[in-house]
Amino acid sequence: MTRSEITSMVDSMPVYSDHEHHQPDAFFAEGMNLDKVLNHSYVGWMGFPADGTEEGRKRLLDNVRFNSYFIWLERGLQRLHGIDDPITLETWQTISDRIASAHGTDPEFHWKSLQEHGYERLIQDSYWNPGDDNGHPELFATTFRIDKFMYGYHRDIIAPDNVQPWSHYGFDGGTLDDYVALMGTTIQSRVESGSAVALKCAEAYNRPISFTPDDRDTAEAIFGRRPESVDQKSFYRFGNYIFHRCCELAGELDIPLQVHTGLARLGGSSPMNLLPIIEAYPTTRFVLFHSGYPWTQEVAALAHNYPNVFPSLTWTATICTNTAIRTLHDYIEVSPSINRITWGSDCWTPEESIGAQLAWRYIVARVIFERIEHGMLRAAEADLLARKLLFENGRTIYGKGKL
Ligand SMILES: [Zn+2]
Repeated sequence: MTRSEITSMVDSMPVYSDHEHHQPDAFFAEGMNLDKVLNHSYVGWMGFPADGTEEGRKRLLDNVRFNSYFIWLERGLQRLHGIDDPITLETWQTISDRIASAHGTDPEFHWKSLQEHGYERLIQDSYWNPGDDNGHPELFATTFRIDKFMYGYHRDIIAPDNVQPWSHYGFDGGTLDDYVALMGTTIQSRVESGSAVALKCAEAYNRPISFTPDDRDTAEAIFGRRPESVDQKSFYRFGNYIFHRCCELAGELDIPLQVHTGLARLGGSSPMNLLPIIEAYPTTRFVLFHSGYPWTQEVAALAHNYPNVFPSLTWTATICTNTAIRTLHDYIEVSPSINRITWGSDCWTPEESIGAQLAWRYIVARVIFERIEHGMLRAAEADLLARKLLFENGRTIYGKGKL
């Protein structure tokens, strides 16, 4: 099989994404342009904002143009908007006008373009309103973000993204057990109605992901206490207690629990921190996101030893394409089951999501090519491997299929 035969095979397949944060319709209804796309992308995290000035554009391009995020976002918007030119100071306004016109002409452009560019299904994490599918259930399944519940020991607590857990979920006071019961019925009803296909925790951005010990006494002792009288250690222990109940729930409801590992707060986000949890809940499936970047091999080792660990290359393809290639080779070789490996783009806009999908297709095609070239894969089985990585594993893992 030639390189170009492999590429066309991979390009002809649909893609299932295990993780996204696509913005709601209202976001795309106003002011879409190149600056807005860049500022709501990982390029925007690099510290060189597109501020509407010539100087700002120059600084952004000068610093970021060779970065993986920029490379794939540029390709994504070229593909989506039919542009051949690269983003330069000279082409900036033309590209920006093209983006404005596409979104301005069709208010459904943003989500329909995901469908038209190869996505068959995407699992949406609306962290600003957990479990929301942006009103497009035909395209988005959802993962229910459990983080907000990990904050709610008092009525006045406001969790990240301005969500007040008690009022948001209609909890009017009671005991810790009442609160946990409300969380259970909230999650259960979303799973049973078919809207939520997974749970998700991204607390790696806010605290260490060693969610131990499971300390009911402390959780009970601070429940209902005013925030100013609760220290950080007790607050983390409350979070631990809730996280453990979610591990139980995910096992009982037979849905995967997706956990952000790696690249967030680097102190405390190493995947190995989850080891006691993975051992304590052997019937709960833990999807370890982002390949634990930069600790990609820790995820490989966990997947090797624990059948309830599912390695996911979500976001990894665009964090560092080079690492993602090596990591995919590792996971194929080390994972006890090829059916446990997935990917998602982890983006807010179709421009970036389509770019990330191009990155994933490039990585899958390249890994297949290299494995055939080195005698590690028979050409006749390339199609089977590509199907699993691009869409079949997502369908199986999130569609209750059995491995
Ligand atoms: Zn994410």
